[in-house]
Amino acid sequence: MKAVTTDLHKGHDPKRFILRGKFAQGEERPERATRLEQGLKAGKHEIVASQKFGQGPRLAVHSVDYLRFMEEAAEEWKTLKDASDEVLGNVHPVRGFGTMPQSITGRAGWFMQDMACGIGPDTWKAVASATDVAVTAAELVIEGERAAYALCRPPGHHAYRDLAGGHCFLNNTAIAAAHLRSVHERVAILDIDIHHGNGTQAIFYDRSDVLTVSVHADPARFYPFFWGYTHERGERDGEGFNVNLPIPVGSGDNVYVAAIESSVATIRAYAPEVLVIALGLDASADDPFGGAKVTADGFRRAGEVIARIGLPTLFTQEGGYLSDQLGPNLTAVLGGFEATA
Ligand SMILES: [Zn+2]
Repeated sequence: MKAVTTDLHKGHDPKRFILRGKFAQGEERPERATRLEQGLKAGKHEIVASQKFGQGPRLAVHSVDYLRFMEEAAEEWKTLKDASDEVLGNVHPVRGFGTMPQSITGRAGWFMQDMACGIGPDTWKAVASATDVAVTAAELVIEGERAAYALCRPPGHHAYRDLAGGHCFLNNTAIAAAHLRSVHERVAILDIDIHHGNGTQAIFYDRSDVLTVSVHADPARFYPFFWGYTHERGERDGEGFNVNLPIPVGSGDNVYVAAIESSVATIRAYAPEVLVIALGLDASADDPFGGAKVTADGFRRAGEVIARIGLPTLFTQEGGYLSDQLGPNLTAVLGGFEATA
């Protein structure tokens, strides 16, 4: 299938986030995209350069204030005395009302959910390029491709309308879905990253025109902890149009693939015209986050199940971190899809 990539992501190379109380090196590194591209080449997919779409598609999902913050934060941060070269909020308005402040320290906390999303000098360029990759691939599906793949980096599914979190800044999957929604009545999103797609869920939570389904490790013991439970089913117009399918941490191929299978009836009943797969590969047995012990064969089977849904399909890259299996797992899931009529 056609696979959209860009080199513009490379300048985003966050050096630190807080893990178990310590500064750790970020897991979301440029090398991820290199490995994923190797996986695309191994699968003989046709690499396509991304196009630029400007702020329009981003504004369909994110707030003006948040986009301005993302674009300006790194420059403004530099004016602080003794500041690091990465914006990292350290004071947050948790569980209550508040007012968006003027100060960059205050706005960093206002717009960042956790300390896994440092903003460096070239982060905005990368983040903006990832949304362009997603929209370029969505356009391919609109033009009639059976499927397309978007190599989005950084990932996006933990990003809310106006909140970064979990290595995510702008929600590439949601932006692509909103773009597809401009030509289709109903869009379904199936998120198979091992972490719950909390940002995507929140963006469409009160809407019935985009179905959101997520298969992920049980958040009782896994990031993002506060969301991803089965009782979260949407609200107002969106009630019944959000489905969470948590699986036990470390459960392996059969449980993971069965959870994806179990989403098929829900997706078919919704009768969408197009499907977006938020394709995290961090359920892998070799992934540093070690979520579900899934093998390449498990990913191939996941691709087969997705193909049997029988819809035009857009794959947007979400998580999946450095291991020797990262590229081969991408080859496996896309190969499983393509081999299935
Ligand atoms: Zn993930």
